[in-house]
Parts: sequence; structure tokens; C-alpha cells
Amino acid sequence: MAELQRCYRHPDRETGVSCSDCGRGICPDCMVFGPVGIRCPDHSGQLRGAAKAMQRVQRRSGRNPGLVTKALIGVNVGIYLLQLAGGASVNANSGWIFEHAALFIERIGSSGDLVGLAHGEWWRLLTAAFLHYGPIHLGMNMLALWWIGRPLEDWLGPLRYLLLYAVAGIAGSAGALIANPTAVTVGASGAIFGILGAAIVLERQQTYVLGGSAITLLVVNLAFTFAVPGISIGGHLGGLAGGALAILALSQFGKRSAVYSRIDLVSIASLMAVGIVSVAVAYWKVRGYT
Ligand SMILES: [Zn+2]
Ligand SMILES: [Zn+2]
Repeated sequence: MAELQRCYRHPDRETGVSCSDCGRGICPDCMVFGPVGIRCPDHSGQLRGAAKAMQRVQRRSGRNPGLVTKALIGVNVGIYLLQLAGGASVNANSGWIFEHAALFIERIGSSGDLVGLAHGEWWRLLTAAFLHYGPIHLGMNMLALWWIGRPLEDWLGPLRYLLLYAVAGIAGSAGALIANPTAVTVGASGAIFGILGAAIVLERQQTYVLGGSAITLLVVNLAFTFAVPGISIGGHLGGLAGGALAILALSQFGKRSAVYSRIDLVSIASLMAVGIVSVAVAYWKVRGYT
């Protein structure tokens, strides 16, 4: 008797057939018939199936594969260089950009006025993700972004990937505010943990965006988070939760595939809702603090 499972590309379809190579469920639309059995499009081994899959990835990433990841790295590095050019020290923890973009609830600004989230400067929830405390912090985050973000961009396409990055960045800020409301937090790691969280959910849904290594990467990164002093634990966990929720929203909580489905209004709106909830959590935390 065949066990009934769901098509990994169409989770709303039940099927009794699975790929003879990887064992994942495949619906009639996704079955590729070969001399040695029925296989999924990823393992069909036929030029037609493989070429089709490649074509789809190429179409999704457009003419410039990895463009969003490259642009994000460019912006992060560019902002750090601007801070140095503006006279900030190598740790980049002072100056106009830092004062106006870092994440904190309330501080005395250079003009003597109070500044921060408590004074309506909500853009800090996102802008803090583009600042770093020096070249090591910046370099580690950009390496992680290249390793984890670059493959995910291919799978998700530039729009869903960029939105997910922004939502996870905001969720990371909300997490940082919950864990340590008096801290001054900067860095892309919340957003990067969000991408990792999304990869874990996708791999749980049998779409192996990081070749099946997402959980291992998470364990290594969480070990770092808790072992190295001065790392924003709340920011990392907030980003991780935000990214996982964002991809669940994109897949309409498992009803469709976040990768193989078309981009539609409902899933994009659900993704945005995760960002709005993150802002609401931050708002609630700031109001409770002041
Ligand atoms: Zn397969
Ligand atoms: Zn299918």
C-alpha cells in the first residue's frame, strides 16, 4: 500500500507517488517519467526536467543573479565607509549616521536634545540593521549574508527575498528591545538570522535551499550567539523568529510552496503583516519603557 503524502512543490495536493531518488511526494504535474521510475523535477536526470528547473531559477533571479545580496553588502560596506569618512572611529559608534540610525529607545543627542524611538524615530527599527561596530562585525555579517543569503535569493527571487530581509531586520530590532531595552544595537545579524530561519522552514518543507545544512548552520550560529559576550541575543532570536514566520506567511502556513508558487497579493500581504506585528511589538516595548 502506498503511503499518502503531499507534493513538495504543491503542498495542497495529496499524492501516493514519491520520487524514486529523494522520496519526496510528487503530484501528477510534477512527475517525470523515466526508464528507472518516476522522479521529481529536481532528480529527473532528463535534460528537459533539469533544464526546466534551471530556467526557472534563472528567470526568478533575473539577469543579475544575486543582485539584491550584492546590493545589500554594498550598502552595508558603503555606510561604514561613510561613517569613517565622517570622522567616526574604527568602531563607528559615534557621528551623525550612528546618532540618527542606531537602535535605542532614548539618548541625549549631540545637540543636547533627547533622540531615539521614544521620540518618534521609528526608522531606527530598520536602519540599525545597516550599521556595524567596526570591520570584524561588518566582515563576519557580510560573509554570513553571502553564504546564506545568496542561495536563498536564487530560490525566492529578488522581491520576496528583499521583503523577507527587511521584515526579519525589523523583527530582530523588536527582539533586541525585548531582551535589552537599554542597549544601543546595530548590525545585520537579525536580518541574516531571519534568512537562516526561513531556510530552516523551507528545508522542513523539503525544499533544500541550503543543501540540507540549515539546521547545522543554526546550531553553529546559536552557539556563537550565546558564547561570545556583547552579542545581541534578543536581536538574533527575534530575527530568527521573524524570518521563520515570514516564510510561513509566504507559504500561507504550508498550504502552498513559498518557492514554487507564484508571487501573489495574499502571501505578500501576509509577509508584510509579520513586519507590522514586529513594529507593534517594538511600539509596545517603547511605550512600556518611557
Ligand atoms: Zn527527487
Ligand atoms: Zn506538484
